[in-house]
Amino acid sequence: MVELPIHLLLIEDNPLHSRLVLQLLKADTQLQCEVEAVECLADGLDILERGDVDLVLLDLVLPDSQELETLLRVRMAAPQVPVVILTSLDDVKLAARAVESGAYDYLVKSSLKSTALSRSIRYTLSRARARGGEWDSPMFRLAQQQFLKAAQYMDLDDNIRQRLLFPQRTQMVSFPFFRDDRSQVETVFGYRVQHVLSMGPTKGGIRYHQDVDLGEVAALAMWMTWKCALMKLPFGGAKGGVRVDPTSLSKRELQRLTRRYTAEIIDIIGPDKDIPAPDMGTDEQVMAWLMDTYSQQVGHAVPAVVTGKPVVLGGSLGRKEATGRGLVYLIEASAAHLGFELGKATAVVQGFGNVGSYTARFLAEAGAKIIGVSDVSTGLYCPEGLSVADLLAYVAEHRVLAGYPGAEPISNQALLELDCDVLALAALQNQVTVENAGRINCRLLAEGANGPTMLEADEILFERGIFVLPDILGNAGGVTVSYFEWVQGMQNLTWTLEEINGRLQTILLDAFQRTLRLAQERKLDMRTAALIEGVKRVTDAKLLRGVFP
Ligand code: GLU
Repeated sequence: MVELPIHLLLIEDNPLHSRLVLQLLKADTQLQCEVEAVECLADGLDILERGDVDLVLLDLVLPDSQELETLLRVRMAAPQVPVVILTSLDDVKLAARAVESGAYDYLVKSSLKSTALSRSIRYTLSRARARGGEWDSPMFRLAQQQFLKAAQYMDLDDNIRQRLLFPQRTQMVSFPFFRDDRSQVETVFGYRVQHVLSMGPTKGGIRYHQDVDLGEVAALAMWMTWKCALMKLPFGGAKGGVRVDPTSLSKRELQRLTRRYTAEIIDIIGPDKDIPAPDMGTDEQVMAWLMDTYSQQVGHAVPAVVTGKPVVLGGSLGRKEATGRGLVYLIEASAAHLGFELGKATAVVQGFGNVGSYTARFLAEAGAKIIGVSDVSTGLYCPEGLSVADLLAYVAEHRVLAGYPGAEPISNQALLELDCDVLALAALQNQVTVENAGRINCRLLAEGANGPTMLEADEILFERGIFVLPDILGNAGGVTVSYFEWVQGMQNLTWTLEEINGRLQTILLDAFQRTLRLAQERKLDMRTAALIEGVKRVTDAKLLRGVFP
């Protein structure tokens, strides 16, 4: 419980609004607080200096400060004090930007109710307390804000909302690691986060990247929960990560690192507990080592402890290409909905790893003209269309796209802004932002990566009529075929590629239709609709299971 009374600072220059907030706070019997109200920022900053304020309710447009500058100055004066924005209906965009810049929540003054205000204050305070530095990453904030937006539309049960904001189980490890020259012992940090344990075992990939942190892994675990629920798979969400640059590792180093990381998290994974899979920076070989390490430990082969492993070790046909294939099934369905033919469309694919390269391949097979691609090394632009087969052959030889003949180099920003029918994002998070969303020039934005679009950019895309296939739908082909792989492993049977692709398509298109229907009925963007579908299923399950003890 929050210690009482809570000390609130209200910075609001409109006396009418100020009075309304004070009245609403007074009307709430659950929330005991002392409020100090001021009309300009300078007075607010003086009060903040005293150091006893628990939370700031902030109007962003004041006589002595405007817009994000206002938030910035409050945060500079008291970085640890959480801020909730009070906004008028015209300024919701600005408020959303403030949330991206570190505010915890925003409330629209014209529709403000006592319960909503007190709930926002209570949740903000408990989130601020739970959010040590380790949770506080831009990606986790994005995942939380997306969830909160969906929760608001759903009128989600208070208790469930609070439970789902943070993962249930987190394992953080640091372990020793020798490079091949054995010159020194390095300390490497790794994570495994299980977001929801109510739906069955947890499921999600393992990411090797130099920027991985707990907040990022937690965000990805949360998205896995919604993704599995949207697909109606019997899993909760999880994710793992190791903070290391995989391109700096030799094959032997990669193997040692993987085996030690597996040993560190071995107690919380297993075919009935939590089933890892590949993600950015990991592949079939890494899964094979993980499976071997686990199997050595328990004394017999346990293929179902991971998915995305090589077929010869019990991997599923079609798993490797599943994310790209699934994305293209959904792009086809979206094109039909939007009324254009994929066979005559132009497409740009950002990212040329597993997801991007298969997406480009299947798009080209469907007849689309690939006019732009990119990877970490470069972007390539060719208005006449690129040959995906040639690109794949080039990358097989040179590892990256840089230097590919027959196409113009293009910057990442310019690539995203190319005029095209389909823009597939299959690289990193945080690509479409408030800064460039107004210049995205496609009809359909298809997310193969996790978290490539920021919250406020979503609103701009929605207003501009750009149709978005959100990540938890767009890239769900991977985990769906992972589910098939797990089922085959648990039952010691194998399905044909036709069976797998057929079932994959059925599951994805069903989720697509449900999401589209909800988006149309409630006039929502596709991401919020997809989240509502996923969150609803998890909520139903949680309410049925009840609370132990
Ligand atoms: N890492 C992939 C994802 O983000 C796949 C997870 C899985 O197959 O379990 O969906």
